Amino acid sequence: MNPDVLVVGGGPVGLATAIAVRLEGLSATVVERRLPPVEKACGEGIMPGGVTLLKKLGVNLPAGGSFRFRGILYQEGHISTRAHFQGLPGMGMRRTTLHNALVQRAKELGVHFLWGRQLRELLPTGARLSDGMVRSRWTVAADGLNSGIRRTLGLDGPIRRQRVGLRRHYRIAPWSDLVEVSFTDGCQAYVTPVAPDQICVVVLTDNPRQGFDRLLSRFPLLAHRLQGIRQVSEEQGGASVFRGARGVVRGRVALVGDAAVSVDAITGEGVSLGLHQAVALARSLGRGGLDEYARAHAGIMGATIRMTRLMLALDRRPRLRRLALGTLQRWPGLFSNLLGIHTRELSLAQFCARLIRLDRLGRTHT
Ligand SMILES: Cc1cc2nc3c(=O)[nH]c(=O)nc-3n(C[C@H](O)[C@H](O)[C@H](O)COP(=O)(O)OP(=O)(O)OC[C@H]3O[C@@H](n4cnc5c(N)ncnc54)[C@H](O)[C@@H]3O)c2cc1C
Repeated sequence: MNPDVLVVGGGPVGLATAIAVRLEGLSATVVERRLPPVEKACGEGIMPGGVTLLKKLGVNLPAGGSFRFRGILYQEGHISTRAHFQGLPGMGMRRTTLHNALVQRAKELGVHFLWGRQLRELLPTGARLSDGMVRSRWTVAADGLNSGIRRTLGLDGPIRRQRVGLRRHYRIAPWSDLVEVSFTDGCQAYVTPVAPDQICVVVLTDNPRQGFDRLLSRFPLLAHRLQGIRQVSEEQGGASVFRGARGVVRGRVALVGDAAVSVDAITGEGVSLGLHQAVALARSLGRGGLDEYARAHAGIMGATIRMTRLMLALDRRPRLRRLALGTLQRWPGLFSNLLGIHTRELSLAQFCARLIRLDRLGRTHT
């Protein structure tokens, strides 16, 4: 079978690309080296923009196996500040739940799957897989952080920062409808509610040799909450890498998701960004080529790349971080508006207008 589009990588972004491609009326085959459902260390929070796109793609997210979250809480020591999303909530869910939902939708639309097969070589008219050849008009590299296709095409960008995330799940009813991010020097922990009776906990660090429990003990409040609570998954680790590519299109091949640009896990945006890219890529293919996608990609990434730089800078500058968190605590409106920019719910112009309003309000109250 020779599809219009061969998608290499059946992670969330590859699957979403195949779904979006089918909705544009093109045929799609996904080749994934692992077997479903594909698991991966992740914080498992999908931002509101991503949830909206999943709905638009017709992906059915099971209510019982997910949890809506309404915003973000940052805390460090005695500082604690929260921001709510402007509109719709985000959604936490296990990676395997997300994977199953995407596969089900892709099957409904007639996407062809080659599970347990691997791309061996890109060819001018398709690809050589571990067990045969596939011809396609276009090939999409959705093969993740260490994309072999990106490397083959000479599109590897520099790694700006690399850390490690360690992930566990605990059987406990979420105590909050926020994703809670706790900071300490050189390390963050975040908690995402992923089901009515389950949370996902990720610890992000430069020094994973310390191990999950030792890192967790650096967040006494969280460690206390989790004491004696049953773990319901194998601990899993994954690289959290901030890295770009030298381009996202080369000839008839396009990069998408982490294969194109990966942002640090602390942004919580990886999956949502990938979904935005998947939809833009499919639209471009539906119009007959990849030029439109190449132009759209930079626009999708801009705000998150700036936010990633800021968050990583704060990770390395504790005094500045505490100053920033303290400021957000004093100005919760500012935090909500910044979150709105981060999640693309607010434009820069709307943000500035709101800042002016906040400033005026502040002056009338002093
Ligand atoms: C610790 C941690 C926490 C995170 N937390 C969040 C979060 O809370 N929210 C969020 O939105 N994002 C989060 N992210 C980021 C998110 O996990 C990624 O952005 C997302 O998985 C990218 O999806 P993808 O489909 O592009 O790549 P992947 O999920 O990596 O999928 C790539 C797929 O390609 C397959 N593949 C690779 N090479 C080949 C080949 N040659 N042939 C066939 N198949 C191949 C792989 O097996 C894999 O299944 C986190 C990341 C980490 C590390």
